[in-house]
Amino acid sequence: MNTYDFVVVGGGSAGSVVASRLSENPDANVLLIEAGPARGATETTVPAAWRGLVGTEADWRHSTVAQPGLDGQSVPYPHGRLLGGSSGINAMMHLRGHRAAIDLWEKLGAPGWGFDDLLPYYRRTERAEGRDSVFRGVDGPLRVAPARSPHPAALAALGAFRERGFAVQDDLNAPEAVGAGLLDLTIMDGARQSAADAYLRPVWDRPNLTVLTDAQVGGLVFSGARCTGVRYLREGSARTASATREVVLAAGAVGTPHLLMLSGVGPAGHLREYGIDVVADLPGVGAGLTDHPLALLFHTAGRDMPPAANNHIEVVGAARTDPSLAFPDVQVFFMDVALALPGRPGYAFGFSAVAPHSRGSVSLLSADPAVAPAIDPGLLSDERDLETMVAAARIARGVAAAAALDDWRGQEVLPGPAVAGHDQLRAWLRQKTSTYFHPVGTCRMGDSPESVTDTSLRVHGVRGLRVVDASVMPSIPAANPNPTVLAVAERASELIGAEHA
Ligand SMILES: Cc1cc2nc3c(=O)[nH]c(=O)nc-3n(C[C@H](O)[C@H](O)[C@H](O)COP(=O)(O)OP(=O)(O)OC[C@H]3O[C@@H](n4cnc5c(N)ncnc54)[C@H](O)[C@@H]3O)c2cc1C
Repeated sequence: MNTYDFVVVGGGSAGSVVASRLSENPDANVLLIEAGPARGATETTVPAAWRGLVGTEADWRHSTVAQPGLDGQSVPYPHGRLLGGSSGINAMMHLRGHRAAIDLWEKLGAPGWGFDDLLPYYRRTERAEGRDSVFRGVDGPLRVAPARSPHPAALAALGAFRERGFAVQDDLNAPEAVGAGLLDLTIMDGARQSAADAYLRPVWDRPNLTVLTDAQVGGLVFSGARCTGVRYLREGSARTASATREVVLAAGAVGTPHLLMLSGVGPAGHLREYGIDVVADLPGVGAGLTDHPLALLFHTAGRDMPPAANNHIEVVGAARTDPSLAFPDVQVFFMDVALALPGRPGYAFGFSAVAPHSRGSVSLLSADPAVAPAIDPGLLSDERDLETMVAAARIARGVAAAAALDDWRGQEVLPGPAVAGHDQLRAWLRQKTSTYFHPVGTCRMGDSPESVTDTSLRVHGVRGLRVVDASVMPSIPAANPNPTVLAVAERASELIGAEHA
C-alpha cells in the first residue's frame, strides 16, 4: 500500500511526536518517512559521546556558507540524520523557553501561541517525576530529570554561579526561573532518550503506523494547489506515497524549506532561477534562519577529572546583560571536559547570546534534491550579538574565577588571559564562535508577509500541507529549543486531529 491518510516527512523531534500522536486514532493510517536509519551507531545512545557524533553518518554533515561575522569562515552545521533526528545526536539539555521569549511569538504575528497557550503541550511531552505538576508534566512520554550523580566539578561550578550572584534554582523549567542550576536531561537509565525512543518505539507495533527509514524524500507531489503526496528514493529506486488528508513536513529548519523550494513553494524568482515551476510564491520560505552563537573558554584542571557519567553539561546559568530586558539574553554552561585540550584534564565554560538579532537563510544551490542547500545562519552578522558575546565571555570568566572552583582550577588556556581587552575579545570571538546547533524560523507561522504558515501551521497558498518542526517558530526561544519543538508538535498533532475528526 502506498496511500495513507497522513504522510509525515522526517522522523526527528517533531516528526516522532506527530506520527505517534496521529496514529493514536486507529482510523488514521500514518506513514512516517525518514532519510536516515532506524538506529544509529551505539555511540548515539551513550550520553557522554554526543559531541563525537558530529560529522559521522548520524549527521547530515552540512556546512554553512562563508560567514562574514566569523571572518569569512564556513563552519560545520550538524543536524541529525537518523530516526529521532537531531534529538538523536543532541546534547540532551532539556530547557523550556522563558515565558517572555515565547510570549514574543504573539507580538510577532502568531496570536494564540503565547507561553500560557504552549504550557499544556510542554507538560504533555514530559515525565518530570517529583516536580511541581502545575507547570511540569508528570506522565508524558519523555522522561527528564537532572543528573542523578552530578560530576563533582559541575557541583563546584554551581557554587561558582551562586558566588557570582546567580539565584540557584531547583527547577530551571519553572516558568520564570532565572538563575543557575542543575538542568533536566533527556537521559533515561544512563542512555540517551531521543524523541523516537520516547514517542515511536513504544508504539512501533501499531498496525496503522508505518515507519519507513533510509528513505529520502526529494519533493512533494501537487495536484493543482493540493499536496497529494511525496516522492522519495529508497534502495536506489524512485517511489511515491500518497496522502488523502495531509502531508506534514517535519524535516527540520534546514530540510523543510529545502523540500518546499524543490517542490515549487518559496520565493518565485529564486525558484525560477533553478527552473522550478512555482506552485505558491512564498518569499518567507528559507528566510529568517535564526541560531544561537556559541563560544567556549577552555581550562586545564589542577587535578584529574573523574570520568563523566552524563552529557558533560549538567549545570547552566542564565543572565541579562541589561536589567531592563524581559528575559535573559545570555546562557553560560559548565562542561566537565575540555575538548580542545585533548589528553589533558580540563573543563570548559560555554556561552551563548540566546536572544540573537542576526538572521540568515536557507536557499537553493540546485534543483537536484541530492545537492544540499546553501545554509547561512548569519552568525554574528549583527553587531549587537558580538557585543552580547563579549559581555557573555566576561560573565563566564567571572564565574570561572570564583573561589568555589579553586579545588579544580588549573588555568584558562584558550583563549588565555592575554585576550582580555574589548577589541581582543571581539577579534577572538569572530575567529572562534560557531553554532550552538539551534536553527529555527525558516518557515515562520503567522500573519506577516514573510510568514509561511498560518497559526494552525497550514502552508499558505496550498492545501493538504503543514509544517511542524523548528522552522515554524516566529523567534528563537532563549533556551535550547528541543523541548519547545516537542511542545509545538504536540499542539500541532491536536490541531490536525481535531480538523480531521
Ligand atoms: C549537535 C546538536 C546538539 C544539540 N543539543 C541540544 C540540546 O542539548 N538541547 C536542545 O534543546 N536542543 C539541542 N539541539 C537542537 C535540537 O535537537 C533541535 O532543535 C531539534 O531536534 C529540532 O527538531 P526538528 O524536528 O525541527 O528537526 P530534526 O530533529 O532535525 O528532524 C528532522 C528529521 O527530518 C529528516 N529529514 C530531513 N530531510 C529529509 C528528507 N528529505 N527526507 C526524509 N527525511 C528527512 C532528518 O533526517 C531528521 O531526522 C541540538 C542539535 C544538535 C545538532
